[in-house]
Amino acid sequence: MELLKLLEKAESNSSPPEEPLGGIPKQRLPRWIRWTLRALILPFIHLEITAERLARLIVPPPFKKVGKCKRRGNCCHYILLPESKGVLGKILFFWYTEVYGFYPRRKEPYEYEDKKVLAMGCRYLQKNGSCGKHFFRPKLCRTWPLIQIFGTPRVLKGCGYQAKLKDSYAKKYPQLAVLPEDEIP
Ligand code: SF4
Repeated sequence: MELLKLLEKAESNSSPPEEPLGGIPKQRLPRWIRWTLRALILPFIHLEITAERLARLIVPPPFKKVGKCKRRGNCCHYILLPESKGVLGKILFFWYTEVYGFYPRRKEPYEYEDKKVLAMGCRYLQKNGSCGKHFFRPKLCRTWPLIQIFGTPRVLKGCGYQAKLKDSYAKKYPQLAVLPEDEIP
């Protein structure tokens, strides 16, 4: 439960977490390649988000997002990504680190519910809690916290947002109303 401990600590932290040992690693991919790739992928990010919004109109999710951002930056300090194995895992890791600019908080993944999860930080988070690359931010930053049509909502501990069960569902499915306050991927 190392990951839960880390997030519990993050919940009460009033200052940003320490940088990884040896500092934030430098990116090896040239800047112009990184930003060309991000510009090329941007229309697809918008398309995917629009398609998801349409799907939500057709099949509304049982939860809704309430609250507001406290600008604590924890969702950018602790980006939790399931570790993927093999070639696909290497490509994804390369993409997240070299293109998106994330970096692992530590080399080893954390164990969570029999899965391995990487805790990443983002080099673009600014001291005032805002995103230094807001226009080009990845899809996961745009859709966090995750309130999906199916599946458990994902909200970090201490986040200003919460997932609230809609009244229409609370009567029909009371078991959903006992969802733990904080969920992680
Ligand atoms: S790209 Fe911006 S929103 Fe996304 S993790 Fe980095 S600082 Fe946060």
